[in-house]
Amino acid sequence: MSTKNSGLRIVLTGAPGCGKGTQARLLKEKLQIPHLSTGEMLRAEAQTGSALGSQIKALIDKGNLVPDEMIIDMLSKRIENKDCENGFILDGFPRTLPQAKALDKMLKDKDIKLDAVIEIQVPDEIIMERILGRYACMKCGQGYHDKYQKPKVYGVCDVCGGTEFYRRIDDNRTTVQNRLVNYRALTYPTIPYFEKEGLLKCVDGTGSIEAVAKKIDSLLGIK
Ligand code: AMP
Repeated sequence: MSTKNSGLRIVLTGAPGCGKGTQARLLKEKLQIPHLSTGEMLRAEAQTGSALGSQIKALIDKGNLVPDEMIIDMLSKRIENKDCENGFILDGFPRTLPQAKALDKMLKDKDIKLDAVIEIQVPDEIIMERILGRYACMKCGQGYHDKYQKPKVYGVCDVCGGTEFYRRIDDNRTTVQNRLVNYRALTYPTIPYFEKEGLLKCVDGTGSIEAVAKKIDSLLGIK
């Protein structure tokens, strides 16, 4: 458990499309702590059309990572926010060993500790099918899938009634292949790092959203 406060500080990790974002949103509801997605933060910056945003967009669209210093700076500012005092869920960070080490330092400086790093494991063949079929509601961000999670009424969001949807530009076959290469080369080395720290918990991410959520809850002791 953390040395300060009672909330959980969790990292969700795993290959692109493993379900980190979906599970993080569910945990956010259950635990009432913020979901910090570095991908979402970067997409928001890219949308501003600033010079920095354009650089970020070019990297994301090709499936490359943004420089460590940039994302470390962004994340460290974000977890300074008051809403993170009682815990947070990190989704998409850390994605490299230098990021993992920077996170350790950031938390040590605040006298807080991570409670768990959860690796959601899904084979590459499933990842590709999941990513190529996914889309989301433009208004509320609720995720859907062409095959596995269609809205109850065709073209209408179950959650907010929105009728416009979008697909991420980086969710195409070529970019996903590059994202998987980058995952193996740059992100995967953080797994043994967290294992050595005694924080790693692995979960099979191939079941339904609810089944995976149940496994994560039980690993975290959430009733
Ligand atoms: P995600 O939404 O987590 O799939 O992230 C989308 C894209 O944002 C990634 O493919 C990277 O280009 C970029 N990105 C997100 N998080 C990070 C990070 N921690 N370090 C570097 N790049 C990142």
